[in-house]
Amino acid sequence: KNAISFRDVRKVYPDGTTAVDDLNLDVPVGSLTVFVGPSGCGKTTSLRMINRMVEPTSGQIQVNGQDVTSVPEAALRRSMGYVMQASGLMPHRTVLENISTVPRLLGESKRDSKRRAEELLETIGLDRSLGSRYPAQLSGGQQQRVGVARALAADPPILLMDEPFSAVDPVVRADLQNELLDLKQRLNKTIVFVTHDMDEAVLLGDRVAVFATGGRLAQYATPEEVLRE
Ligand code: ADP
Ligand code: ADP
Repeated sequence: KNAISFRDVRKVYPDGTTAVDDLNLDVPVGSLTVFVGPSGCGKTTSLRMINRMVEPTSGQIQVNGQDVTSVPEAALRRSMGYVMQASGLMPHRTVLENISTVPRLLGESKRDSKRRAEELLETIGLDRSLGSRYPAQLSGGQQQRVGVARALAADPPILLMDEPFSAVDPVVRADLQNELLDLKQRLNKTIVFVTHDMDEAVLLGDRVAVFATGGRLAQYATPEEVLRE
């Protein structure tokens, strides 16, 4: 069963740049699928078409067999967490408030969302005492962990991650990579992970989609097969 399917998807930006060209790809439920390739080959654009931050020029994207354009925005938001490189935390909100943003928007009570946010801190390996801090009072690695906690707050079945670990130092990055693999086992999510780092792609991915210049899919295979090429 597929969590996400791209069917003949093309994205041409208004300035004429073809970012994604004729993409056909299925992301199996429960997989960690990595989009890898050099800068500018359409990875981020492909990721953002899944949650409709970017609309395709043509073609179709399905989530759990449903065309994303037919899914109401609130339902789409609930079904997908999004983690980006610079964690994207709101600087004037505490860690707990940052994590609770989406559940609160979806109508969860302050009390329940705070309790869940504290549980999530532990899930991602941070001490509860950090909940009252502001993002600037955390290390880069801690900020990325909070970004992951925030993406998990509405308990979405799908997690979209855009170069989440590329801004942290190599030692912390290795920790975060291991924690992600562990989290995937425990929480049973479908994860789409964007990186330009082939080592990271084959380390993390069950499936690796190799993008090439011009937004074309060069290969979509297991990490073992990709390494053999
Ligand atoms: P990647 O994530 O692989 O680095 P992107 O999806 O960010 O690639 O970009 C693919 C191509 O589309 C690049 O040539 C990029 O410059 C271009 N691009 C991305 N966003 C826009 C935009 N909003 N308008 C015009 N061109 C864009
Ligand atoms: P990332 O790849 O992490 O998304 P970028 O620096 O590539 O970061 O893009 C930052 C923003 O600029 C994105 O919203 C992207 O869509 C937009 N963008 C990227 N390339 C272009 C471009 N050539 N023209 C216009 N906007 C672009």
